[in-house]
Amino acid sequence: MSGLSYWERTYGDHFFDILIVGAGIVGLNAALSCRERYPDARIGVLDKGMLSVGASSKNAGFACFGSPSELLDDLKNHTEAEVTALVAKRYQGIQALRAKLQDEQIDFELNGSYEVFQTNQKSEFKACASQLDYLNRLLYPVFEQDIFELRPLDFGMQSVLNEGIFHRLEGQLNPVKMMLGLKQLAQAQQIEIVSNYEVKAFELQGEQVEVKGPKTLKCSQLLIATNGFSSSLLAEHSVDILPARAQVLITKPIKGLSLKGTFHLDKGYYYFRNIDGRILLGGGRNCDFQAETTDRLELNSKIQNRLDELLAELFGLSEEDVEYRWAGIMGTGHQKTPIVTSLNKNIHYGIRLGGMGVALGTELGADLAQCVSL
Ligand SMILES: Cc1cc2nc3c(=O)[nH]c(=O)nc-3n(C[C@H](O)[C@H](O)[C@H](O)COP(=O)(O)OP(=O)(O)OC[C@H]3O[C@@H](n4cnc5c(N)ncnc54)[C@H](O)[C@@H]3O)c2cc1C
Repeated sequence: MSGLSYWERTYGDHFFDILIVGAGIVGLNAALSCRERYPDARIGVLDKGMLSVGASSKNAGFACFGSPSELLDDLKNHTEAEVTALVAKRYQGIQALRAKLQDEQIDFELNGSYEVFQTNQKSEFKACASQLDYLNRLLYPVFEQDIFELRPLDFGMQSVLNEGIFHRLEGQLNPVKMMLGLKQLAQAQQIEIVSNYEVKAFELQGEQVEVKGPKTLKCSQLLIATNGFSSSLLAEHSVDILPARAQVLITKPIKGLSLKGTFHLDKGYYYFRNIDGRILLGGGRNCDFQAETTDRLELNSKIQNRLDELLAELFGLSEEDVEYRWAGIMGTGHQKTPIVTSLNKNIHYGIRLGGMGVALGTELGADLAQCVSL
């Protein structure tokens, strides 16, 4: 017995023109862009979760493009042109998102960001500060201004240098409001969003793709937007994608918390911000890369302990001040650049957004939709 009603069983008997696997920021944006290109197509988005299980609703809500130490680190493994293109894609992605959804709807605030350095990171600070002119020149074509500047830090933090590196165009938002807004847009465009549908496999049969899950569905074009969960679905296709778990904690409300903006530390491996008078602090994957290469939504005590230590070092707070912790799954690989490509003329995927998918997702979804040919 499948447990499905007659109506559930017969749903999807009719052919979909386009099916998208994954209702995260990429999948929903791909669906919206497909609708623009194909106003009359039947478009469905399948997700294994009730709400998204993925990173799009579990992230820290940073609208960010890369801190100086992270960009300098990236330049060791990528060319200047690749790094500039990636930063441009992130920046354009946030602009495209803000063109789709109102700032008030997603609590978008353009408060800027700081890269901060702990007192034991003086040499890292000097190395970054000495490269600011270079980074500003490199990124001038993207931001049309010198984007990084040194600024005094005065947010009541402890054990940090009293100067940080400010980026005036980085912002912050509420990821769940973003996802709800995208879902509303999709539903208003007659895009069918199907929850609790886990795609187990897919197969090209002539001109059709058969999608196997709780019920077999058929489509002409299949778009895969499963990011950190892609390795099993794409196992046969040697794709450079690995799951990367990311962990976050949030404190209880803190009286007089004056943090404003978003904050990066240590090549982007740690980040924090103020949300409703609480500190959200995340990161630490670099403490245990091996264990964090997983798509299991569990907490890792080694990393949570490191986050607790950092909370104490930066704010003098203890474990008692923490209210809640969670983990989410990102998609990474040996390169930082996302992948949008086709397995054949009917099946395409857009994945590997790393830690900046909020910024990249809108544009990547649009790029994925460009692979479709009906
Ligand atoms: C803790 C954390 C903090 C982060 N902070 C930030 C940040 O501040 N700023 C930023 O820019 N980025 C951040 N990121 C990264 C960002 O959230 C992601 O890059 C982005 O959300 C990826 O979007 P996506 O649509 O590609 O994937 P996801 O949002 O992961 O969506 C993939 C969807 O596919 C579904 N799915 C997977 N497999 C299947 C299957 N077989 N069948 C059906 N459905 C399936 C999942 O349920 C999921 O809903 C963070 C990530 C985490 C985890």
